[in-house]
Amino acid sequence: MRRPARKLRWRGVGEYRDEAEGLLEQAGDAAAVIRGRLRSLILKCPDGCGETLSINLDPRVGKAWRLDVRCERLSLYPSVWREGGCKSHFILWRDHIVWCGRFEDENEEPAYHPELEALVLEALDPRIFRTSFEVAVEIDEIIWDVDRVLRRLVREGRAEAGGSASRRLFRRVESKARR
Ligand SMILES: [Zn+2]
Repeated sequence: MRRPARKLRWRGVGEYRDEAEGLLEQAGDAAAVIRGRLRSLILKCPDGCGETLSINLDPRVGKAWRLDVRCERLSLYPSVWREGGCKSHFILWRDHIVWCGRFEDENEEPAYHPELEALVLEALDPRIFRTSFEVAVEIDEIIWDVDRVLRRLVREGRAEAGGSASRRLFRRVESKARR
C-alpha cells in the first residue's frame, strides 16, 4: 500500500490555476492562486492518487475554506473531504496532514500548547454552549488547536460537550459544579 503524505510542502504562488498546478511535484505539495486576492489552494492529493485538488478560499464565489497562516504554517478549516474519486478526508493543521479514517493510525498532530487551555476556558460561558469555531474566532487561535483543547477539557471535566456529532458545542463547567 502506498504511503500518504503527512506534511504539506509549500511550493509557492501562481496567478492562475495552471501556473500554481505547475509548481506541484509530489503528494502533499501545495500552491496558492492569488490574483488580486487569495483565490484558492491547489493541492496534490496527499494520498498519492495523483489528482490535484482545488480548494476555494474566496467566499465571493461560493463555499469557501478558511486558510490560516501563522509562523509560515498553513491550517485550513473545515476538513477536506473528497466525496468522489479517492475519497480522501483530512485536515490541514499547521502544515500537518491529519487523516480522518483511512491512514489515521499514524497521524502526527502539531505540538500541544497547554497555555491555550486558560484562554479557551475564559472564552467559554458556563450557561451558553458555543462551537469550537466560535471560540477560535473570538480568541484568534487556530480552530484545530482550540478543538483539541476543548476535547481535553471535556475529558478532564472542566468543560461539557453538547450538540450533535456534526455540530459539537461546548460550555464551561463552573468549579462549584465540578465532581
Ligand atoms: Zn487522492
